[in-house]
Amino acid sequence: MRLIIFGPPGAGKGTQAQKIQNTYHIPHLSTGDLFRSAIKNQTELGKKVKSLLDEGELVPDDLVVDLIKEELGQPKYEEGYILDGFPRTVPQAKSFDEYLATREAELDALLELSVPEDELIQRVLSRDEGRSDDTRDKIQHRLSVYHENTKPVKAYYKDRGLVHTINGVGSIEEIFDRIREVLNTL
Ligand code: AMP
Repeated sequence: MRLIIFGPPGAGKGTQAQKIQNTYHIPHLSTGDLFRSAIKNQTELGKKVKSLLDEGELVPDDLVVDLIKEELGQPKYEEGYILDGFPRTVPQAKSFDEYLATREAELDALLELSVPEDELIQRVLSRDEGRSDDTRDKIQHRLSVYHENTKPVKAYYKDRGLVHTINGVGSIEEIFDRIREVLNTL
């Protein structure tokens, strides 16, 4: 199964992607986690992207796409995966389609977590992960980047019937049950 978990910052993508990984045995691949670990390890990539992550700006498409292709080339992703934080722009989605075509693979679903904006802000401000971009002004900016650059990705997949919108309000288990209902129909 090849899946995308989609939604604004604070929607619970990482949490639910972990649960999907554990239940369906497909690896969770988060581009944000890859970038944060590159920054922590002070790699060349980390040095390039640090200020962008700090400011809540997007990393350039070509860099993200190259990284994803390299990562997905590993054998552990052969049977499927759940992408978290990618694609985040329509050009990224198009490049991803081209990549899938070269591998004769298809996307099964985009799972969108829907959460009201005031709750998103509360969740981000109350999570305690030490992220430099989880401050009040940075979250506002990341939400506006989401609306402008990332939301159109959903329309890109919608016509193909791949979009499943899930109510992202409730307990972690309640939300996961809703996801399971969708995944069990695929
Ligand atoms: P996330 O952990 O998904 O919230 O991502 C944290 C940050 O990593 C974002 O604010 C961007 O700076 C960067 N990032 C992660 N994924 C992408 C992507 N697909 N395209 C561009 N930038 C990304």
